[in-house]
Amino acid sequence: MSREPPDAPAAPLAPGIRLRCPRCGAGIPGMECRACGFSITLQHGIARALPPESMARFAGFIHEYEQVREAEGRGSDHADFYLGLPRGGGALQDPRQWQVRARSHAYLCRRLLAGAGKANGSDRLLDLGAGNCWLSYRLALAGHRPCAVDLVANDRDGMGAARHYLARLPTLFPRFQASFDRLPFADAQFDAAIFNASFHYTTDGEAALREALRCVRPGGAVIIADTPWYPREADGRRMLAERESHLRRCHGVAGASIAMLGFLTDAWLHEMEHALSIRWEVHRPWYGLAWALRPVVATLRGRRRPSRFRMYVARKHSATPAHHADPR
Ligand SMILES: [Zn+2]
Repeated sequence: MSREPPDAPAAPLAPGIRLRCPRCGAGIPGMECRACGFSITLQHGIARALPPESMARFAGFIHEYEQVREAEGRGSDHADFYLGLPRGGGALQDPRQWQVRARSHAYLCRRLLAGAGKANGSDRLLDLGAGNCWLSYRLALAGHRPCAVDLVANDRDGMGAARHYLARLPTLFPRFQASFDRLPFADAQFDAAIFNASFHYTTDGEAALREALRCVRPGGAVIIADTPWYPREADGRRMLAERESHLRRCHGVAGASIAMLGFLTDAWLHEMEHALSIRWEVHRPWYGLAWALRPVVATLRGRRRPSRFRMYVARKHSATPAHHADPR
């Protein structure tokens, strides 16, 4: 397997992206923070923006995640697998999950990103929880300017796998190893931030949303896609318990090294509307008849209600005028 050399044309600190220190929040012109001494380093084209204390916090999660994904046979030795996602290559692994991804992706491009930022060229998009970066690759092909963020950076299932996209892209989009609650970007510079099948992994959903909103421009959007939604909290809790017992049985890991959010409910989404002064636009892409009938089938068979996938979009308030004339 060829590795991307450190000096590949990956432009990790893409022109125009302003950074801030993920540890202390100070603006940083280069890769070093003069305020706290933390430095973002570059390894195999990936900007490492996890301060040591964050790395210590997430090490258990990253280890377990990589262990489970490897046991599940995620990733491939062949470039075609990555270049075909979300279609094609996904047929090898969990085809139903990839069908959902493909439909969400089509909906995202057609309905949510069409026209975004086009007035001043291609739009700058944050791909939060990028995994092997297939979405960033697709966004780059479509003329957007993606920036990938994930905790997992390995070559097969993490951001290192993006090396395969160099076969079709002149340069790679920037990739940052960072946590959702401490993004290494200055305020208000992205047209949209997309949590693509990743928001459920966050430990603090409110902090993750605050950070994403901070990084998008006024009028920009934060989009949650492919995170399970349950009509009742109890069903979501049961799903997490089932998942944990599956992980313990099949992979010998508890899956609890980090307490993740796991799923969405209306109650939680409403809570965020109040906490962050946002309004959710709810989008319901059509995932096919079999998918639509899952709740009915589950009820008939007396099973737990299944998850549903919707897309949630919150827009950042446009900047309000600094001063209103006093009517007196
Ligand atoms: Zn700092």
